[in-house]
Amino acid sequence: MKIGFIGLGRMGFPLASHLVKNGLDVTAFDLNLAQIEKFIQLGGKSAENIQHIAKNADIVFTMLPGPKQSKEVILGDNGVLANLSEGKYLIELSTIDTDTVDLLYQHAKEKNIKFADAPVGRLAAHADLGESLFMLGAETAEFDYLQDLLLKMGTTVLHCGEPGAGTRMKLINNLMVLCYCQLNSEALVLAQGLGLDAKKTFEVLTGTTASNGQLKEKWPQKVLNNDLTPGFDIALGFKDLTLACQAAQSTGISLPVGNLVRNMFQLARHAGKDGQDTSSMTDFWAEVNQIEKIRI
Ligand code: NAD
Repeated sequence: MKIGFIGLGRMGFPLASHLVKNGLDVTAFDLNLAQIEKFIQLGGKSAENIQHIAKNADIVFTMLPGPKQSKEVILGDNGVLANLSEGKYLIELSTIDTDTVDLLYQHAKEKNIKFADAPVGRLAAHADLGESLFMLGAETAEFDYLQDLLLKMGTTVLHCGEPGAGTRMKLINNLMVLCYCQLNSEALVLAQGLGLDAKKTFEVLTGTTASNGQLKEKWPQKVLNNDLTPGFDIALGFKDLTLACQAAQSTGISLPVGNLVRNMFQLARHAGKDGQDTSSMTDFWAEVNQIEKIRI
C-alpha cells in the first residue's frame, strides 16, 4: 500500500512519521523543504510535486492550514483529484469549513475516488506521541478499513457520520477548545489582579469542576511554562473560530460567545500574536490589562 501525505507542518509531520514508524510506505510533499529533509531522515520519501504523489498513491492524506490550501491542493489543475486513479482514497485531515468538505466529497465522488474526512483532536503534543483522536466522516462500509489505518497514527477513531460529518464535529470541538482559551486567560489574569498566587490558582482551578483539558494539559506545558511556540497557532485558532461562526450563520444558529471569542482572537492577532500558541491568549489578556505575564 502506497501512501501520499501532503502537509508536514506541526501536525502533519508527527502523523506522517507515525505511519513510517509503523512500517508503511509514505511519500510526502510540503512547500517547506526543511520539513521534507527531516521526514527523509526518519525513513520517509519525498516527491517533487502533488502530481507525483497522487499518481503513485493508493491513499492520499492532506494536512494543510485551511480551506484555501485544501482547495488548491486537492481541486487544482495539477492537484490530487486530477491525478489520483479511480477506486483510490483521499482522506482530508485538515480543519476546513462545511462547504469546502462537501465540495471535495462531491468532486471525489464524480471521479469514483473514495473520500473521508478525519480531522484531528487533542493537542499537538498528543500527535507527537501517536495519541491523536480522529473525528471520522466516512461511509459505514469504509469504517473498519479506515479505523485500522488511522490507528497507525493515533489511539481513537470516532465515526461521526457520512463524509463531511468529521469536519462538522471538529468545528464544534474547536469552538469549545478556543472559548476555553479565552476563559482560562480571563480567569488567570483576574486572579493575578487580585494578588492571588499563580501556582495556587492553577491548583484550585484544575482541582475543581472549573477545570478543562486546555487548562489542565496545555497551560502548564505552554504559556505558564514560558513556551509560546505553537502547538496550535493563534492564526489557526482564529481560522477555526471563523469557520464555526460561518457555520452558525449558515444554519441560523446564534453563537454569542463564539463570535465574541473570535473577536478576542482577532485583537490578539492585531497585537502580534500570530505564530504563537493559542495559550498565549493569557499573555495578550495580561498585556491589555497591564499586569505581569503569568508563569508558574
Ligand atoms: P502548520 O501551519 O504547522 O502546517 C501546515 C503545513 O502545510 C506547513 O508545513 C505548510 O508548509 C504546508 N502547506 C501549506 N500550503 C501548502 C501547499 N499548497 N502545498 C503543500 N504544503 C503546504 O499547521 P498545523 O498546526 O500542522 O495544522 C494543520 C491543520 O491541522 C490545520 O487545518 C489545523 O487547523 C489542524 N489542526 C491543528 C492542530 C494543532 O494543535 N496544531 C490540532 C488539530 C488540527
